Amino acid sequence: MALTGLDIFKKLPKTNCGECGVPTCMAFAMKLAARQVEIVLCPYVSDEAKAELSEASAAPIKKITLGTGDYAFNIGEETIMYRHEKTFVNPAAFGVVIDDAADDATIVNKAKSAQAMEYERVEQKLRPRVVGIKATSGSADKFAAAVAKAAENTKLPLILISDDPATVKAGLDIVKDNKPLVYGADSNNFQAMADLAKEAGVPLAVKAATLEELADVSEKVIAAGVKDIVLAPQAKDAAEGLKDLVYIRRAALRQKYKPLGFPTITFPANGIADPELEMALAGVHLMKYGGLIMMNDLDPARVLPLLVLQQNIYTDPQKPMQMSEGIYEIGEPKDDSPVLLTTNFSLTYFIVSGEVEASRVPTWLCVMDVEGLSVLTAWAAGKFVPEKIAEFVKKSGINDKVKHHNMILPGYVAQISGELDEELSDWKVIVGPREAGDIPHYLKSWSAG
Ligand code: SF4
Repeated sequence: MALTGLDIFKKLPKTNCGECGVPTCMAFAMKLAARQVEIVLCPYVSDEAKAELSEASAAPIKKITLGTGDYAFNIGEETIMYRHEKTFVNPAAFGVVIDDAADDATIVNKAKSAQAMEYERVEQKLRPRVVGIKATSGSADKFAAAVAKAAENTKLPLILISDDPATVKAGLDIVKDNKPLVYGADSNNFQAMADLAKEAGVPLAVKAATLEELADVSEKVIAAGVKDIVLAPQAKDAAEGLKDLVYIRRAALRQKYKPLGFPTITFPANGIADPELEMALAGVHLMKYGGLIMMNDLDPARVLPLLVLQQNIYTDPQKPMQMSEGIYEIGEPKDDSPVLLTTNFSLTYFIVSGEVEASRVPTWLCVMDVEGLSVLTAWAAGKFVPEKIAEFVKKSGINDKVKHHNMILPGYVAQISGELDEELSDWKVIVGPREAGDIPHYLKSWSAG
């Protein structure tokens, strides 16, 4: 059972030295109980207490790291079933599977595309993060050659996929320093796979057709000395697969069942030829509760919506997604282009900027920081009011970019236009459309004069 702040406090030195970054041992204990800090920050706690508190404060789903350097990432470390309870911690990672029997050009192309694919949305970089090499050729040499070829063409961490320990070893010898995932141990090969993973210091995926068997293999691999595990349930169909993922999460969180206290890996296309169905299942696995989601290919038309869904699922529901305050240039605005004002709630930004783009009228979009609230909410909260807007406009630098000084105000706050006119004496405030959908028509008929 998780320790309370008071339980933790009893095991701390109680000197209140502040070296952990908080002023008192009690405050540190409370933060530790809330998993906001790690026990290693206290240099004076005894080794015995450190071991006990590390164990007690660890997330019920272990954090697993793949890769090294800039492309390393974590999965797991989750503490909740549902996003509205708190927030998910480490986003599920999408990846692509490359067949080792494929020709060199295909391997190079898939590895390079995975590396190159990146989208920026709400100032976050969204991208696939892992590449799997699957042994289907039946040759350890061919597998090793495919691993080497992929590693030359991508810095993303690799997953070495084979049931044969000798084949995995051939690939591992090439990339073990980059912390790949070995996939995978089953009830037949677990000892040899565990030995390989332990020796190389890399995580190991365990797989089985039923959850009972999965837990059994996981326990055996733990007993063999492997600490970092990824679970690969092998259900016979999509419905059973979803059920397995939910049961694993529940067993880890609610029952604190250690053999299933690890992140998962899924292959949504398993036995499915239809890429649209693969995408739909990948979306299901993203929401419940895939850690690594491996796709047959990375068609941008299917991957981008999944990455956007991932961004939405893994943002903190207690903090609105927001854009940075500033002036955004849409098209190539000039000194006679219209100036629109809006707030930095990301959804507001995307809707407004999308409609401005659709109008094909180059525009200056002034986005004011109101802590991520929409226009009406920000106004009601006293954050999007004439005095504050005037302050923002003056410091934004928009004055120097245009010669006309006409500011288009969102129609939803038409009631503040008079007062804003007074606050912004060198600007003329014009009430724009209430609905973003009317922006294209409005901008096309707009004239600086
Ligand atoms: Fe207490 Fe340790 Fe923090 Fe010092 S560093 S205040 S002893 S918890």
